[in-house]
Amino acid sequence: MRFSDYNIVKELKDRLEEVGFKKPTDIQFKSIKHILDGEDVMAVAQTGTGKTAAFAIPVIDKLTRSKGRKGSNSVRCLVMVPTRELSKQISEVFLDLGKYAPVRTLGLYGGVDQEQQIRTLKNGVDVLVATPGRMFDLIAQGALDVSGLEFLVLDEADLMLDLGFNKDIQDILRKIPKKRQTLFFTATIDKQIKKLAYDVVRDAIRIQISPKNPVAGNIEHAVAFVEMDHKRFFLENMLKEFEELKFIVFVRTKVRAERVVAAMERVGIKTEALHGGIEQKERFSILDRFRSGENKVLITTDVACRGIDIPTVDYVINYDLPENPENYVHRCGRTGRGTRKGQALSFCSESENLFLQAIELYTGEEVEHYHIDPADYKEIINDSDDPTYNWKKLIDQANKEDGKEDEW
Ligand code: ADP
Ligand code: MG
Repeated sequence: MRFSDYNIVKELKDRLEEVGFKKPTDIQFKSIKHILDGEDVMAVAQTGTGKTAAFAIPVIDKLTRSKGRKGSNSVRCLVMVPTRELSKQISEVFLDLGKYAPVRTLGLYGGVDQEQQIRTLKNGVDVLVATPGRMFDLIAQGALDVSGLEFLVLDEADLMLDLGFNKDIQDILRKIPKKRQTLFFTATIDKQIKKLAYDVVRDAIRIQISPKNPVAGNIEHAVAFVEMDHKRFFLENMLKEFEELKFIVFVRTKVRAERVVAAMERVGIKTEALHGGIEQKERFSILDRFRSGENKVLITTDVACRGIDIPTVDYVINYDLPENPENYVHRCGRTGRGTRKGQALSFCSESENLFLQAIELYTGEEVEHYHIDPADYKEIINDSDDPTYNWKKLIDQANKEDGKEDEW
């Protein structure tokens, strides 16, 4: 079935054709009809399979058809997301697909001035894509009224229902009408979260497109065993070998992100760090530069592991393994978007073996081992252009030669 055969408003059909969306993806094919029918949906499908449009298309259609209540500060569809970057990105998808539809959309997030957001909300919006912090602020200030909500969407639903955010969800549920349509979309879900989810939706249509391994099938992923202190040399080697490719490199902490950027700078490789310690406007600019290709290597923390859709990412490197096994799936999923292929490689040091085991338990499969020949391993370290390292290396060599003389 093609989008042109769907019973959706012309404004939307025309735009889908224009952006080149001809056929629905699996998850879109399975969810759109139920959402159009007014049912609650809980959908699980791998990363990069088009979940955003799976809810945006039917929501835009329904909002366009029905006038609804649109008072001051009101919102008709609330999409809750875990990060500011995702709020911006998903609001842009609504704006893009809804270009010809009379649907007002706002991305609402913290870290930026609220005045403009408050002004936009004054006349009411149709779609609000929000992170919880700023949203609750504005509700408390009376600048946002969710009492007329028609649709509640949780994207990255498992994370939204997980600890920290669950209280927020419960809070918002108390403020919105019982009679509404609730939609959950996620790539990963566990039993505990599923239970929470069923407390929020009743009689939801459950759609699960999930082969045994949650890592999307178009992503080749492997693990290389590398000592902690040697990781930077292996990253240097990869970035030099595949100079033309676009890389996203995940590290455990903000401090490590900055350190890796500095280490790469020492060897003449330009990279940029993105993490929660950076001012929000700059975070968006960093992501824009990466999206446009002005910067080809992004060193980041798990703040960018969920949902970010940059179709041109060729390679994901887990410089540090994630402590949380779902995040392995999400990080790898930053490549292989849509029908493209992607590659992911993880650096596992001895102290991270436990994380690897947890990942394998979670994905139900052993991660393929990327074998590095011991001679190659040495060469990769010796080939480094790191001046501080080479300085040490010279002393080491000098010491060794001294030793040799002694032997003679
Ligand atoms: P997910 O949320 O499942 O990880 P996204 O919604 O971010 O995936 O979509 C991944 C990519 O697929 C995006 O770049 C999007 O533009 C593209 N895409 C989505 N639906 C279609 C479609 N029907 N045809 C072609 N491309 C699509
Ligand atoms: Mg998504």
